[in-house]
Amino acid sequence: MKNIPVIMIIFGGSGDLAHRKLYPSLFNLYEQGLIHDNFAVIGTARRPWSHEYLREQVSDAIHETHDQVDENEVKAFASHFYYQSHDVTNVEHYVTLKKLAQELDDRYSAQGNRLFYMAMAPRFFGTIATHINDQHLTGSGFNRIVVEKPFGHDLASAEQLNKEITASFDENDIFRIDHYLGKEMIQNIMPMRFTNPLIKNIWSGEYIKNIQITLAERLGVEARGGYYDTSGALRDMVQNHIFQIITLLAMPEPKDLSSDSVHQAKQELLKSLIIPTPEEVKKNFVRGQYLGSDTTFAYKKEPNVDPDSTTETYVAGKTKFTSGPIAGVPIYFRTGKEFKEKKTRIDIVLKHINNPYGQAHSNNITIEVDPESKIYITINGKKIDEPGIRREDLTYVFSKEEMAKVPDGYERLLHDVFANDSTNFTHWSELKRYWEFIDAVEDAWQKENEAGNPEIAQYLPYRMGPKEADNIFESPTEHWIYE
Ligand code: NAD
Repeated sequence: MKNIPVIMIIFGGSGDLAHRKLYPSLFNLYEQGLIHDNFAVIGTARRPWSHEYLREQVSDAIHETHDQVDENEVKAFASHFYYQSHDVTNVEHYVTLKKLAQELDDRYSAQGNRLFYMAMAPRFFGTIATHINDQHLTGSGFNRIVVEKPFGHDLASAEQLNKEITASFDENDIFRIDHYLGKEMIQNIMPMRFTNPLIKNIWSGEYIKNIQITLAERLGVEARGGYYDTSGALRDMVQNHIFQIITLLAMPEPKDLSSDSVHQAKQELLKSLIIPTPEEVKKNFVRGQYLGSDTTFAYKKEPNVDPDSTTETYVAGKTKFTSGPIAGVPIYFRTGKEFKEKKTRIDIVLKHINNPYGQAHSNNITIEVDPESKIYITINGKKIDEPGIRREDLTYVFSKEEMAKVPDGYERLLHDVFANDSTNFTHWSELKRYWEFIDAVEDAWQKENEAGNPEIAQYLPYRMGPKEADNIFESPTEHWIYE
């Protein structure tokens, strides 16, 4: 598929995401010819920029992310960019925007195709969707919309936002983006599970003891304290990234690789997601806040954070499904700020088997997602010159040259939007289910807060989070594999 005609409108064209991710990714797609002669991008934001200034910004964004570029190519690419000063809350501005989109459609023979990208603060998503509808911004060709995370703050607000977006867009044209689904090793979960008899045949509660997912961040809330304090680790990381990973690990095999079949398999699984009761939340979840290294309340002293905040900068929890290949297997997850290192990692912990050698190590399958990309399986064997069992890792790893070729998640996902492939985007019915789970946990925590006895573990920075998270395991023989 090459040279797709389209007018793309980016809401938030002066923002960080547009600069660091969208412009460089679009350039790479332009270089590959996916978008080429018949496209234009309208960047919008409130600032009074000119077309020329936006083009300079686009050019800077490419130079910042590419070692070597052909300057003529950059110039030719940037010439497709137009800036429209636009306050998303001002209805009249949509009239001007529509006029520009129509002019560019004619100039670039874009065949009435429109792609809208919501790259700004989520509180504006509903407003933008409403005005796209009431000011008739959609074109006569295809109309697609990419919605950044977070999609809602809870189930009720997500439903409201979905209603506002579906007023103008069909479900098939709504691309709810989660950049984790563009990552190499996340995209590797399905091939790993379904093409290896060695792995596929042990993917059940008979062999798997538990699954552990860790999304560790090294940084604190930095300058995002005001926003983060209204969100927390559960909404910020579990509702989207962690649940996407869990779904890929637990879903049944799709009947083929079409987007419909993959989503069908995910939805079949999610029907059997166990929504925790308040008692289960108390038992199976730990929320925490980071301390300073002198054990003072560091999070509560961050700029724009409520000094009495109960927002969690760390969460660990457990979930299970009643159907699917790993029905009944506990899936433990944890994520938070100020871990000892930045890492995303999945550990599949296998059960021990009786053997004549006595104690052996469990065969764990580990998928490292970030910063490294590799899979390794622990294997038992014989020690050379003494009795006993030695443990080695069999590793599936990429060379440096291969890693250099891996496209950024945003590039992959934007490619899919242009190609109309929604396999790696979140379907509404999946998102709805994730929110049902998150709301159950948030409600239980809220009740604890209101009763004046919230249990919020404190943890020292740059370690592995609160020790209370060691107590969520079902049996004393289980523990976090990644320490
Ligand atoms: P940002 O604050 O850097 O950019 C926001 C943009 O919105 C700016 O262009 C700003 O001028 C514009 N804006 C603000 N108010 C406006 C108004 N009333 N009318 C018109 N424009 C207005 O934010 P960001 O970091 O680029 O994030 C954008 C979205 O992308 C968010 O939903 C965020 O969660 C998501 N996201 C960002 C990143 C990232 O790396 N930055 C990563 C993943 C997801």
